[in-house]
Amino acid sequence: RQYSDFFLTTRENLPHLIKKRGKYSHKGTFGHALLVAGSYGRMGAAMLSARACLRSGVGLLTAYVPRCGYQVLQTGAPETMVLTDPDDEVLTSIPDARQYSAIGVGPGIGTDERTYYAFQMLLSNFSAPMVLDADALNLLAQYPELMKMLPENTILTPHPREFQRLAGKTANSLEAIGVARDLAEKYKIIFCLKGAHTAVVLPDRRVYFNPTGNPGMATGGTGDVLTGIIVALLAQGYAPDIAARLGVFKHGEAGDRAAAIRSEAAVIASDLIENLRWGK
Ligand code: AMP
Ligand code: MG
Repeated sequence: RQYSDFFLTTRENLPHLIKKRGKYSHKGTFGHALLVAGSYGRMGAAMLSARACLRSGVGLLTAYVPRCGYQVLQTGAPETMVLTDPDDEVLTSIPDARQYSAIGVGPGIGTDERTYYAFQMLLSNFSAPMVLDADALNLLAQYPELMKMLPENTILTPHPREFQRLAGKTANSLEAIGVARDLAEKYKIIFCLKGAHTAVVLPDRRVYFNPTGNPGMATGGTGDVLTGIIVALLAQGYAPDIAARLGVFKHGEAGDRAAAIRSEAAVIASDLIENLRWGK
């Protein structure tokens, strides 16, 4: 049904979408991203997202993390401004609703009940373009009433298990895409169904398959890198459907460069960040 709405993202239908940085631009031109991430023992996820975001053209990045993450981020990603939750280990609150131009939520946050309340509060207080990943998706699966609170064009980036928790079991990935199309249309949201050929599913039911990437990327933390890339693109004002497609494409390209240099088995998530390129 409606297979004519299936497309392949290609180099040809993307490069002209990469915005040039004007000579007289300044950091205010490129947006201010907010990253809500991390918990005790999972600050690496926040770090990977933050560093990927910083390497993807964003003007400013603020991270909101539990107190245990303060030193970690200030040291490991000094370009990031860090705000801390009052709790030492998990997120229990949200920052002031300042003028963030995009928000990324989820990497490493865990599914503590207090984090659920914080997430719910965030959805009630912010309407900026948003990308939700990892435990933010697991919270959505645990508390489905949150689905109705998602701002239009929110981007969800589940791997197959996260999508299964969210949408139930499907027989195969084509069936999963069908279910994602229904949900995307119903809630006016965007799915990046991550895998060997990540499928970007739009609210109008169009599906874009991504051609870049390799099995070297099947390793911890690569998804967190994607979240950072996408929130950076949203912060810079890319339309959410473009941010999703372009982010997934560039993420895979970075993985391909990393594998060419190191071999697939040697690739780790940080290598993707080091190999991001935003020229032609
Ligand atoms: P996560 O499971 O959240 O860390 O995300 C894993 C990331 O790696 C996603 O962006 C996937 O699309 C990518 N990935 C995983 N396995 C493969 C594969 N076999 N080929 C290409 N990309 C992959
Ligand atoms: Mg992940």
